[in-house]
Parts: sequence; structure tokens; C-alpha cells
Amino acid sequence: GANKYSGIVEDCCCDYETVDRLNKEVLHPSLQELVKTPFFRYFKVKLWCDCPFWPDDGMCRLRDCSVCECPDSEFPESFKKPNHGLPGDNPICQEGKPEAAVDRTLDRKAFRGWTEIDNPWTNDDETDNAEMTYVNLQLNPERYTGYTGPSARRIWDAVYAENCPKYPSEELCYEERIMYKLISGLHSSISVHIASDYLLDETTQTWGQNLSLMYDRVLRYPDRVRNLYFTYLFVLRAVTKAADYLEHAEYDTGNHTEDLKTQSLTKQLLYNPKLQAACPIPFDEAKLWKGQSGPELKQKIQKQFRNISALMDCVGCEKCRLWGKLQVLGLGTALKILFSVDGQPNSHQNLQLQRNEVIALMNLLNRLSESVKFVHEMGPSAEIEAQGS
Ligand code: FAD
Repeated sequence: GANKYSGIVEDCCCDYETVDRLNKEVLHPSLQELVKTPFFRYFKVKLWCDCPFWPDDGMCRLRDCSVCECPDSEFPESFKKPNHGLPGDNPICQEGKPEAAVDRTLDRKAFRGWTEIDNPWTNDDETDNAEMTYVNLQLNPERYTGYTGPSARRIWDAVYAENCPKYPSEELCYEERIMYKLISGLHSSISVHIASDYLLDETTQTWGQNLSLMYDRVLRYPDRVRNLYFTYLFVLRAVTKAADYLEHAEYDTGNHTEDLKTQSLTKQLLYNPKLQAACPIPFDEAKLWKGQSGPELKQKIQKQFRNISALMDCVGCEKCRLWGKLQVLGLGTALKILFSVDGQPNSHQNLQLQRNEVIALMNLLNRLSESVKFVHEMGPSAEIEAQGS
């Protein structure tokens, strides 16, 4: 069917068709390869649920989110027996559903050389300590986890309330609108991943696509699709703007052959001639913070984004928290690249990123790229299916 998304992606510089084509031909294939390399597949994260909000309700602290130090991907007894009563002294292994737990099987040799550099856009304290764990992202795909209900709802409500108390309203200024679109685009992407890898039958453990869910949560609302494309282009712009830095970053995991591959895949992605010809500047960040109150506004929005980052510690499902934290850090990294270095012509040379930020940024871009591809390919059948029922 005809694509109802045509023309230029709002606030961006390329049109929908170009984005779909570039994604399919260039970006998606390289990103899929890139995130499998040892450098990009391990993520450092504090998975303890350490929620500064709603201190009284224990929902996050006890029910769903204790870190379960299970022996290599084997689920402990407590999963098999339903857990009656509130866990008192020993809040270990309370994770309710196996599909919500994070698999921590890991190759410890893969880590070296993390440095600690602050990001004013995020709340994370990256200092290495015992609470940090390393997760192999390839073993923990973002997909359906069964996390829903008031706990999940409350997080999204708080995220939107933090970002734009006035929404929906015409009063939002340009910058606030951009922030709203980034969050909404990320939300769309998470929903698309839930729909593309859904537990269709619990007894037979059958996983597959749930197109009606994708329709109900995303496609029915054209704005959510548009925001997904917008977020994709925004993050892509950050990645290409940081090309100098990313090209020369130290991709050292101790596996020389793999690290060379990481480096060459990164270059391929950053300097792709098709991308440069068709969409050289996917988003124009120079339009922001122009008004008289620019600097103040930036501080305000930065603080709001830090709060959103802190909210990720309240996500009551471990695997959702992992991807929530990763992707919000990825967005925070994109914001840092685009806005934290002042407008001097060569100021991007001062850019400093943490290893974890680079990993989050590229994995976020890959997630968005997967979502754009899925929406483009499956959208028409999902709409037909929805209209038929
Ligand atoms: P929700 O997705 O919870 O949406 C709540 C409300 O927000 C909607 O009713 C609508 O008003 C508004 N809204 C929805 N989408 C958009 C959008 N794109 N733009 C603007 N507004 C919107 N579940 C999993 O199964 N796997 C995961 O990996 C996972 N990760 C999560 C990560 C985070 C950070 C959070 C907060 C939740 C996560 N969840 C995950 C839960 C999932 O996102 C949903 O909350 C849950 O599936 C319930 O969905 P829902 O239909 O109630 O609507």
C-alpha cells in the first residue's frame, strides 16, 4: 500500500522514503554487525532497583527487581514455586518471570580501560563499584517481558510529566517539543520491540510477532510513528557529528581481530557515501537554544532529562530496566554530543565520551533502526489486519 508517511520528517532534513531506503541498505545491516562485536555487546550497568521516588510502596524494591545472581542462565527454585507473602529478610531471586530476568553469563575478559567522565544530561554515577554488573546484550534481547500494569504505567506517566507538564498543548516551545518527541520516539521503539518479539503462548513458549499490538500501541497514532523516525534521525545526527571521536576511539577488548572489525565497521557506518549523499545532516541542532533564555532553558531541560534518567531506576522489571537505562543513556549521550560542547567551529574536538556512552549510543541507534525497519516492513500488513478485524 501507499506509505502514508511521506515528505520530510518534521524538524529534520530528510524524507521518510530516504530514511527507509538508507536504513535498509546501509544502516541496519552495519549496525546489526556492529552490536555483535565484543566491544559493543557488553554493557556496564547498575541493575539494582534504587528508586528515589515512591519510597513507600516497595513495588520496585521487592517484588520484581531484586538482582538474581543465578548460575549461568539457570533459573533458581524460587521461579518454579510461586512466592507467597512478602519477602522479608532475603530479597534474593524475587524476579517473577524468567523472561523479565537478565542473563548475566559473561566473558569477563572483554573489559578494559573504562574511564569516568561526567555527562550533565544523565543521572548515572559511572564510578566502578561492586554494584556494577556487566551484561552481554546479545543474551538479553529487548522484547516482551510481561511487565505491565500500574508500575509500568506510573513510570511512563512520570517520564512525560517530567518532560512536559503542559502536554498536550500548543504552548510547548521548540526545545520542549524536541524533547517530547525524543521520549515518545523511544517509547514507540520499545513498544515495537515488544510487538516484534512477543510471547504468544506461555505453555508452549512460542514467541513471535504480535501485529495487532503494534497497531494498537503505535501505528494507530501517526505521531508516534513520526516521533520514532525523528528520534532515529536525531541520534544518527549525533553519531555522525561525533565521527571524528568515534573513528579514533579505543575499541580495545583484548581480541585484536574482533577489535579491528569493530573499528572498520564503525568507519563504514560513519563515512558511508550513500548516507552522506542522501542525508548528510539528519537533524539541525543549531536551531536550538537560540532565544534570549536559551542557556536557562537548556539548564532546565537538562535537569528534566536527568530526572528521566533517574526514573529508570524505578522500572520494576530487570530486563526492562537494563534497556531503559541503556537507551536513556544513549539519548543522553546524543544530547551531550549535540549540545554540551559549545558552538565553536572545532569544539567537537573537545568531546569526551565514556566507553559506556559509546556502547549505549550505538546500541540505541541499532534499536531505533530495527524499529524503523519493522514499522516500514510490517506496518502495512498490521494496518490491513487491524481494519479487517
Ligand atoms: P504504555 O506503553 O505503558 O503507555 C502508557 C501511555 O503512554 C499510553 O496509554 C499512552 O497514553 C502513552 N503513550 C504510549 N506510547 C506513546 C508514544 N510512543 N508516544 C507518546 N505517548 C505514548 N515491557 C516489555 O514487555 N519489555 C520491555 O523491554 C519493556 N521495557 C520498558 C522500559 C521502560 C523504561 C518502561 C517504563 C516500560 C517498559 N516496558 C517493557 C513496559 C511497556 O513499555 C508498557 O508499559 C507495558 O507493556 C504496558 O503497555 P500499555 O499498553 O499499558 O501502554
